Parts: sequence; structure tokens; C-alpha cells
Amino acid sequence: MNIILLGPPGAGKGTQSQRLVEKHGMRQLSTGDMLRAAVKAQTPVGIQAKAVMDAGELVSDTIVSALISDELASMGNDVGAIFDGYPRTEAQALMLDEILQQHGRTLAHVIELEVNEDALVERITGRFTCASCGKGYHDKFERPKQEGVCDRCGGTEFKRRPDDNEETVRTRMAEYRAKTAPILPVYEARGIVSRVDGMADIDAVTDSINAILEG
Ligand code: ADP
Ligand code: ADP
Ligand code: ZN
Repeated sequence: MNIILLGPPGAGKGTQSQRLVEKHGMRQLSTGDMLRAAVKAQTPVGIQAKAVMDAGELVSDTIVSALISDELASMGNDVGAIFDGYPRTEAQALMLDEILQQHGRTLAHVIELEVNEDALVERITGRFTCASCGKGYHDKFERPKQEGVCDRCGGTEFKRRPDDNEETVRTRMAEYRAKTAPILPVYEARGIVSRVDGMADIDAVTDSINAILEG
């Protein structure tokens, strides 16, 4: 099964993807994570993308689509894909159609996490992740069970993203409204869009998504 999680920055796409990976053995394909890895490794793509990401603007459609295509090519056909943070423009949505077709895959669900924008700045500015395994946390909404120790891997180092500041978040939200939200009608016409209340607590959101996948 292949699904898209759609929603503005901080909606909970990454958090819910990690849970789907654990429960269903699916693979999370996050273009944000792939780009951050490229920036860290100082690949040509990373060098080109860094300033754009720091500004909260969108990286080129061809770059992110190539990342997705490569990742799918490396996966077994029996492993379901969770697209997290991709597609983000109408052009990317069209490219994804082609890429999926090349791999003999179809989209089962586009799940939109509906959130109140006022809550997103607090979510983003409180976000951090485990430096070793990448598990996501929040200062207020999802703290490690034992202070300073990752629940999943026992790691004791955590990191925060340089673009998770209030100013950049505003730009990222504006990009979402202008370029990403308009792709929903494309999928709605195909009858594959489901909406979930992303303001509910993390477990409740997971339950709603599982109900859609099992429904
Ligand atoms: P968020 O947590 O805000 O959803 P992501 O980790 O998905 O953020 O993305 C971080 C940044 O990486 C974006 O602000 C953008 O610069 C870039 N990026 C990630 N995915 C895409 C994409 N599909 N298209 C263009 N740019 C992207
Ligand atoms: P996205 O990938 O959509 O940008 P994340 O999954 O990284 O968003 O979530 C952003 C922050 O908000 C994280 O610190 C996460 O722990 C927290 N968070 C995610 N979902 C919820 C929720 N339903 N309620 C409260 N906080 C949440
Ligand atoms: Zn960890």
C-alpha cells in the first residue's frame, strides 16, 4: 500500500510516519530527511538545497522527485511507501504519478492532517529528534519517558533543525498554502482523500489513520 501524508509543517506527518513504519513495516520517504542528509554529506544536491531550506522555500521539483525515484528503486515491491512531505507542488504530484507507474505502484490514500495554524509555531519551535535514531520528540507534547534518554534507542544526544524557528515557519506555512494545498483537489477527484483531525492527541491521530488504512 502506498500513501501520502499531507499537511503543513508541524502537522504531524513525520510523527505518524514513524508509527506506521513500526506498526505496518512500511517505508517512510521523507524528502525533508533526504535533503537534510544531502546537506550533511555536502553532496551537489545538498550544497544547492541548503540556502533554500534555510529560507523555508521549496527546493526544485526535479531534485526532490529524483530523490523519491531513487529511493523507490532501492525498495522491494512488497514494501508500502509513506510519502511524507512529498509531493508539495502540482508539478511534483504529476511526477509522482509517473514514478509510481514506472514501479507498478498505485496510491491507496492521501491523508490530510487538518490542523489549526496557530498551533503550528509552538509545535515546530518545540520539536527535537534523537541524534542517533531520528525519533521525533516535543518539549511539551512528547517528551522522552526518561529525561534526556531516547525511548527507542537509549541515545542521549538530541538535535534541533536550524529551520525550526518562528520566522522560517511563517514562510513554510505560506509556501504550503500557496503551492501544496492546491494539489488536494487533484486527488479528491480520484476519490482517495481522507481527512484526519491533526489537533487531536498523537495517539488519537494514529488511531484515525490506522482506521483509514484498515477500512
Ligand atoms: P516540515 O517539517 O516543515 O514538513 P520537511 O522536513 O518536510 O519540513 O522539509 C524541510 C524543507 O526541505 C522544506 O522547507 C523545503 O525547503 C525542503 N523540502 C522538503 N521536501 C520538499 C519537497 N517535496 N519539495 C520542495 N522542497 C522540499
Ligand atoms: P511534520 O513532519 O508534519 O512537520 P512532526 O511530526 O515533526 O510534523 O511534528 C511536529 C512537532 O509536533 C513534533 O515535535 C511532534 O512531537 C509534535 N506533534 C506531532 N503531532 C502532534 C499532536 N497530534 N499533538 C501535539 N504535538 C504533536
Ligand atoms: Zn533514538
